[in-house]
Amino acid sequence: MNTLIKTKKIMNKFNIIANKRYGQNFLIDDNILENIVNASDITSDDLVIEIGPGLGNLTEYLLKAAKHVLLIEIDPKMITVLEDRFESVKNYTLLNEDILKVNVDELVKEIEEKNNIKFNKVKVVANLPYYITTPILFKLLEDENSISDITVMVQKEVAERMVAKPKSKEFGILTLMVDYFSNANIEVIVPNSSFIPEPGVVSAVIRLEKNRKYKVKTEKIFFELIHKAFAQRRKKMINSLTSTNFNNMSKQGIEDLFSKCKLDFNTRAEELNIEEFINIVNNID
Ligand code: SAH
Repeated sequence: MNTLIKTKKIMNKFNIIANKRYGQNFLIDDNILENIVNASDITSDDLVIEIGPGLGNLTEYLLKAAKHVLLIEIDPKMITVLEDRFESVKNYTLLNEDILKVNVDELVKEIEEKNNIKFNKVKVVANLPYYITTPILFKLLEDENSISDITVMVQKEVAERMVAKPKSKEFGILTLMVDYFSNANIEVIVPNSSFIPEPGVVSAVIRLEKNRKYKVKTEKIFFELIHKAFAQRRKKMINSLTSTNFNNMSKQGIEDLFSKCKLDFNTRAEELNIEEFINIVNNID
């Protein structure tokens, strides 16, 4: 039975109406589901974390590929469906939680201890709820060290921001954060018709391999710099940084720093590449 037919059956059986508030768009295209699993490069020794499993369409594929799957789902209605659908399957842990409120590293440790096992790698694979894509990604990139890579469905426009080049209108905080923490690749563009209900936007699967390739003196100041530099992206960066009180520096102090880095005083944030942002931070005394 293909995923479209299964989805319709399950929605009928459990009286499910997709909840917009939770960003529910169920993936029903088996080609795309296979694509996601292939792109995520799962081995039978890996733990996969799925955020928002929903009715379990992607989960069904993940359970076959991974050693164990950790499912984190906010909607109790979906929990009922998942328990029923995967009643005879053993290799998963199902939590009714908000992904933004759990400590993933601790959960991974608990699962390893409980099953007396050490996973090869911990990977996130998900069709993300679009209303919280950025906070989820920042959390996975910044805070959760157990995770090695992330393969997720996001809005195409967000995927393009993640891999944008300097001087383009898509280039910004998300681009720099993703580049700082990972190597990113768009895997496949996904039409609206691959979901029930159809979302209002085109989607894309993006893969982020975590990898810290840059050396920055103080990370905290680097994050502050990129947030404040883009706070008013059409302004000259010196003015944005001054009006947002960057690193408690005066306008004169910021101008001196720009001189030290050989940057034009008229520079706008979108004109700098990541090395230039890092160079600014590394030149602060
Ligand atoms: N993976 C499924 C469903 C994707 S829709 C599929 O591809 O068919 C997004 C899912 O994320 C929904 O099931 C929704 O209930 C869930 N979700 C929304 N916000 C969440 C949150 N804060 N934490 C965990 N899950 C969430």
